[in-house]
Amino acid sequence: MNKSKRRAIIAGNWKMNKTAAEAVALTEEIKNSVFSGRTQDCEVVLCVPFTSLQAVVKAVEGTSIKVGAQNVHFEPCGAFTGEISVDMLKEIGVEYVIVGHSERRQYFGETDQTVNKRAKAALAGGLVPIVCIGELLSQRESGETENVLSSQLKLCLEGMSESDIKKVVIAYEPVWAIGTGKTATDEQAGDACLFIRECIAKLYNHEIADGITIQYGGSMNAANAAGLLSKEDVDGGLIGGASLKAIDFSKIVKSANTLERRFL
Ligand code: PEP
Repeated sequence: MNKSKRRAIIAGNWKMNKTAAEAVALTEEIKNSVFSGRTQDCEVVLCVPFTSLQAVVKAVEGTSIKVGAQNVHFEPCGAFTGEISVDMLKEIGVEYVIVGHSERRQYFGETDQTVNKRAKAALAGGLVPIVCIGELLSQRESGETENVLSSQLKLCLEGMSESDIKKVVIAYEPVWAIGTGKTATDEQAGDACLFIRECIAKLYNHEIADGITIQYGGSMNAANAAGLLSKEDVDGGLIGGASLKAIDFSKIVKSANTLERRFL
């Protein structure tokens, strides 16, 4: 396995926070603290609420920051009140989309099957899906983590071709670590991401597994990012709470940049 083959992706998941005006203000702060005149070695993505997407796409113009949505429907159009399609996101300049976040699974009935449909629709329409998987605390405590991860992967990636899977980002997000302040240890995160990579090698092949970006998410912050990101199989982070503070988010980006520069 070879970390240098993969570019780190640091993505902020703003969840249901910030009006459009507030989102633009935070984006400006992030631009100032993260992008003070230099290009980034890692990819930076801001996954903002639907209502702020257009404004944030405009606010990041001229920078390398990318914009992502937090969900997408799998049908192209139709009677799906409250939903948003791939084309609607593409048209306004969105490039990434989070699918299968544990909060969607917990509160909105998302399943591995619907995650699979959303991810495939995103790929077909040219969006990069960030596919979230991760075990519950009870599953970790009863030694089921690997079974859960391999089953989620198999179902969420079902029917994806080799060329599809190369464009997918996986986010390993242990549910017990999301928004709880309880972070996985560097070793737990590294081991789980390695396991996920091995599963992908079995489902596809080693070359594909070696090239796929696997993020860690779960209470990553300015203090713990460097340790987590230093793990061989952790290729970035999906960051909730800490992505709402420009200073903290920029520190995480800087940790990722420092690690990326080893390979230049
Ligand atoms: C998330 O929302 O994906 C997440 C990891 O949240 P937090 O960083 O707040 O735990």
